[in-house]
Amino acid sequence: MRSEPPPSRDVCADLVSISNGKNDPRRKRLRQLRPHIRKRFLDYWVCRNALEALPRRAWSDLAEDALEHCYTGDTIARRAVLTGIMEQIQPDPNICPYCLLRQPTSLDHFLPKDFFPEFSVLAWNLVYVCDPCNRKKGNRFVVAPRDVINPYFDEMPDTALLHADVRVTAGGIGVRFSIAATDPEVPAAIVDLMRRHYAALSLEKDYFREGAAVVSDLVNAITSQHRVPIDQGQLDAAIDNRMREWSNYPINSYRVAVIEALELSPGFLGYVNDRIAAAPRPPRARPLRDLAALRAAAAARAAAL
Ligand SMILES: [Zn+2]
Repeated sequence: MRSEPPPSRDVCADLVSISNGKNDPRRKRLRQLRPHIRKRFLDYWVCRNALEALPRRAWSDLAEDALEHCYTGDTIARRAVLTGIMEQIQPDPNICPYCLLRQPTSLDHFLPKDFFPEFSVLAWNLVYVCDPCNRKKGNRFVVAPRDVINPYFDEMPDTALLHADVRVTAGGIGVRFSIAATDPEVPAAIVDLMRRHYAALSLEKDYFREGAAVVSDLVNAITSQHRVPIDQGQLDAAIDNRMREWSNYPINSYRVAVIEALELSPGFLGYVNDRIAAAPRPPRARPLRDLAALRAAAAARAAAL
């Protein structure tokens, strides 16, 4: 759901260094395969904006084993390549580009290595994502219409496509999300792709839960600072402060969507003031007793002894 530049690497040099780190017979086999793999790298680049259109290539079982082993077999060269890729694509803030929710922890093969083993160590095919997104994406998304946004090659618009609607009801606060373009210039195909992405990675449930937490955090922050009801200006200032704290978050982050929606939520001010009124207050400090009375009581106790 975010655009980021593809890793800038000499992908053929990566292949050579990893395959040279293998033992025979895989090393020998990979050397024989190199011209074919390089040709496939070129095909990948040509199809990068519509990778679902890239046909699979049939490989022998032995070739497939050697190609997949480039990623699964642990060598110094492989580790150096993967570390280099992760360092280059690690975004700030450090958020999975598929969900914009969790920390990335693993590399997803955009075209799955089970179907495209020749791209198992191709930097442009490796996306640093969170484990839940990696699991949910799996091997399923290789046919048209594609279900997952490619953060390197799909051009995402500068305006938000993810929107939140925050409703205050008798039961509390409810947050719903939707995907839509407010700018008519945004191609319908991108909006449709984003909707499929949102559904395929089942982001609604996560966003619903986390969106409620965003509202709850903000309300708790306000009620800890205010003892008496606030006005709309004070509420807007609190929302703007939170927005400034999150200015580094990507444009389609659920956090940004929720905070923007709060400014337009008609019942939110009343909800916040109800919470301020209901917030427990610290017990009132007991007034100091009169010092003279304390002294007199102490003297009386001493005289009684
Ligand atoms: Zn994710």
